[in-house]
Amino acid sequence: MSKKWYPTINYETCIECGACVGKCTHSVYAKETQTPKVIFPEGCIDGCHGCQNLCPTQSIQYVGDTGQSAGCSCNCNC
Ligand code: SF4
Ligand code: SF4
Repeated sequence: MSKKWYPTINYETCIECGACVGKCTHSVYAKETQTPKVIFPEGCIDGCHGCQNLCPTQSIQYVGDTGQSAGCSCNCNC
């Protein structure tokens, strides 16, 4: 089954603040850089908007986001 929910970054507007990288506890982003680099999309929690909610430039969208999500179902306080 292919992953249906994971973040994509708009590098045209991203200011490389690192908030998304620092927020995610599911190893979705590479940790060695503030520039968001999605290396493990499979780790992203379906319905989670944790990193998007922190992004100051609205540069994060999710593959599979139809606007119908009920929110994150895990316990990571995203
Ligand atoms: S949506 Fe949540 S789980 Fe997915 S990358 Fe962002 S903080 Fe991590
Ligand atoms: S939170 Fe937004 S602006 Fe900051 S690094 Fe992530 S995508 Fe870029």
